[in-house]
Amino acid sequence: MRVLITGGAGFIGSHLADAYLQRGDEVFVLDDLSTGSIRNIEHLKEHPRFHYTIDAVQNQPLTAELIDQCDVVVHLAAAVGVKLIVESPVRTIETNVHGTEVVLSLANKKKKKVLIASTSEVYGLSTEVPFREDGNLVMGATTKGRWSYACSKAIDEFLALAYWRERKLPTVVVRLFNTVGPRQTGQYGMVIPTFVRQALAGRPITVYGDGKQTRCFGYVGDVVGALIKLLDHDKAVGEVFNIGSNEEISIVELANRVKELTRSDSEIVFVPYNEAYEEGFEDMPRRIPDTSKVNALVGFRPEMKLEGILRSVIDYQSGRPSSAND
Ligand code: UDP
Repeated sequence: MRVLITGGAGFIGSHLADAYLQRGDEVFVLDDLSTGSIRNIEHLKEHPRFHYTIDAVQNQPLTAELIDQCDVVVHLAAAVGVKLIVESPVRTIETNVHGTEVVLSLANKKKKKVLIASTSEVYGLSTEVPFREDGNLVMGATTKGRWSYACSKAIDEFLALAYWRERKLPTVVVRLFNTVGPRQTGQYGMVIPTFVRQALAGRPITVYGDGKQTRCFGYVGDVVGALIKLLDHDKAVGEVFNIGSNEEISIVELANRVKELTRSDSEIVFVPYNEAYEEGFEDMPRRIPDTSKVNALVGFRPEMKLEGILRSVIDYQSGRPSSAND
């Protein structure tokens, strides 16, 4: 199969490229390196079935050409990371909405199957955990920058589903929950690479709020396995799937685990949300996926436990080969 991965030099995209190449497929990456990095695909450059182009999805003639050459499209190119989103809402909205419009309309011309990556952020302030795909999405006020990300991704979902219903373009929507592993950078606010970097440098580990908020962290290797299976499955078309882990941990507990595993002397400090992000910032107290839908269709079960995930990030940041089995 010939696969186009937009955002393929990003954290998740580069792992997906690895997995497709390992399976024997041909991979085309399109990435503008806005948050991705050439380092993530350095090891693939010489691979005979790997091709990459550094440009934006919004370059329509180029994207059209790449879509023509491929059988399926995985659209991962997006503005991600809560810090980036709060700091650059214009870029977030424009990249996420316009980029997806371009990919869907071009793919539609040739009826190439498209997987659209959405996010658990779309559940917003909902407290109906575990979140089910057919549950309500509860958005906060438009004056709070964070929600622009959730809304832009919700529009992407509507558009992908509309293309399927109205124009018979085969689309699959996935809502990715917190995903972690080697190559993820803490630069855009993601908590695990940030805590590991702080702990390894002996700097304070910054827990935002009271640290009682919880998340479930999925391993990138498990997540890309699910994406590949969903793209292969005819019954995934026109559907939305949660993908993530069900192992819940509070952020303060996470800080302690990172400190232990790195044997760090760092102190754990608490930073109010309005200092960390912006005045009036709203966080979600719990975020847990219901993954029964993806499990029923393609047998997805996250294999890697949190300890293995943390070790893989610590190894990566310490410059050691990963001990994780990906
Ligand atoms: N967080 C934190 N310290 C940091 C970065 C993040 O305490 O240096 C918290 C953040 O407020 C959130 C959780 O960790 O409650 C997960 O944050 P992340 O940005 O990784 O993902 P989110 O779930 O918010 O999309």
